[in-house]
Amino acid sequence: MPDILVVGSLNADLVVRAPRFPQPGETISGEDLQVIPGGKGANQAVAAARLGANVSMLGRVGKDNFGDFLLNNLKSNDVDTQFVQRDDASTGTAIIVVDSNGQNSIVLSAGANGKVSTADVEHASFLHHKLLLLQLEIPTPTVLRAAQRAHENGLRVILNPAPAKEIPDELIALADFIIPNETELSLLTGMHVNDSATTEKAARVLLQRGAKHIIVTLGSKGALIVDESTSTQVASFKVNVVDTTAAGDAFIGGFASILDSSSSSHSQGVLDAVRFGCACGALATTKFGAHPSLPTKQEVERFMSLQAT
Ligand code: ADP
Repeated sequence: MPDILVVGSLNADLVVRAPRFPQPGETISGEDLQVIPGGKGANQAVAAARLGANVSMLGRVGKDNFGDFLLNNLKSNDVDTQFVQRDDASTGTAIIVVDSNGQNSIVLSAGANGKVSTADVEHASFLHHKLLLLQLEIPTPTVLRAAQRAHENGLRVILNPAPAKEIPDELIALADFIIPNETELSLLTGMHVNDSATTEKAARVLLQRGAKHIIVTLGSKGALIVDESTSTQVASFKVNVVDTTAAGDAFIGGFASILDSSSSSHSQGVLDAVRFGCACGALATTKFGAHPSLPTKQEVERFMSLQAT
């Protein structure tokens, strides 16, 4: 099993289900509020830990009740929290509306996530990990410094460029795998992404900027692996969708959790990890919320064996 370090965000997700999204200026009624642990960093840390990986998290939460809640949640999922600091800023929150189709709409308040610094990264040990997971919900200079330290210490780097924003080519080149969804790929490249040809074309732009492998997650259409010489479509698994929150995080946790443990050849190992990630993403859409929907290794293996029969 790889030893995974996640440098990223921790959020309290404040979730309300509603029949549809409100129009600007409109008030509509939803169901009772649910407060659920989230944040792309913490989601991916818990996703990988539930799948049996040894995971440490580096980030910041506030000295408030949400901070206690998030730290306790990481600990109860066996994620090491020694690199999570308490900050004077409030804990990060995400206000999430989920509509009757299971689609979500999110407003983020970064809070303490915005204070995760390059110094935090300097003070952490990178010696005992093999894989670094990064997202873009903390300051970009911190993400870049973490990628540089990973490179110096021989860790492989997985970058999930979410939420999409401008990133330096140096960060793109330091990532062994960049995993965007279609929207993020489009925003990152400034290109239209609406079918397999335009997805591959945009992914190749990131390769030209120094990326090594791009894995585009395509929701119900599965995923596309693009590297210098090949492009491989990986099919999705059929499920009854309840809530798509954290499907991408489940995919990345699953992908990371088996990437290094695969004994097969490099490209077959990546393909196996992407298939496993697709199963994790599909299962995550069948339950409500972020952390509660992240599957265990047993659940994924049972699901994949049922699909194979
Ligand atoms: P994000 O949540 O970041 O937008 P995606 O929606 O692309 O990411 O989902 C990540 C992965 O989860 C997909 O590559 C796919 O394998 C799986 N997945 C997501 N939605 C569905 C769905 N409706 N049916 C089956 N699999 C899905």
